[in-house]
Amino acid sequence: MKTARRSKKVPAPVCVGVDLAGLEHNETGVAVIRDGRLVRLTSAGSDAEILALAAMAGLGGTVAVNAPLTRPKGRCCLDDDCPCRQDPGTRSRQLERELARMGVPTLATALIKVLARRGHRVAAALRGLGYEPIEVYPFATLRLLGLPSSGKRTEHGRAAIYKSLRPLVPGLRHPRASEHQLDAVVCAYTAHLWREGQARTVGEADEGLMVIPARDVRTRTAARIAESRA
Ligand SMILES: [Zn+2]
Repeated sequence: MKTARRSKKVPAPVCVGVDLAGLEHNETGVAVIRDGRLVRLTSAGSDAEILALAAMAGLGGTVAVNAPLTRPKGRCCLDDDCPCRQDPGTRSRQLERELARMGVPTLATALIKVLARRGHRVAAALRGLGYEPIEVYPFATLRLLGLPSSGKRTEHGRAAIYKSLRPLVPGLRHPRASEHQLDAVVCAYTAHLWREGQARTVGEADEGLMVIPARDVRTRTAARIAESRA
């Protein structure tokens, strides 16, 4: 006979993925994964809209953002004419250098100023609301999981990424998802892996960390995809 496993319903952890656009008039993709399942996939524009959707994480949930959320160590800003550009003068963060060594190219934080400034601003707003946002990079997640990662600007490329994500993200039934929405799904999925103890960080704690899949997750991911096709 089955016995009740729990007397009261524990709310499932919620992960919100945000593929942040540099500018408010461009599309920001937002995906919400609850208990491993995609429950919302949409787009947003303004900071206020993004923060309202991020609130779906609830306190105790995780908000994962695809944008630099911190500046290179020692930089007070990302302006080229500020003295901090020469001293210390770093354009990249440790996490970007580590990813490069893993065969995952990124753009240095100072080279994507507009996005990095908005990332910094949105992260501060999220912290103000009681969240501790994590930085993620969908391209790194896909690459490190051994999934298709290129050609997301084309219908063909998006179809390949979509197909590979379906066995991993139940509830993903959005064949017309935009490039930014697909990236948001990967952001939320990375947060889900993080919560499940299947992710790790690169970078330095006092500069900025990025969450990427743990080393052994690639093999398990391949097995799950093979199983879904069997
Ligand atoms: Zn400066």
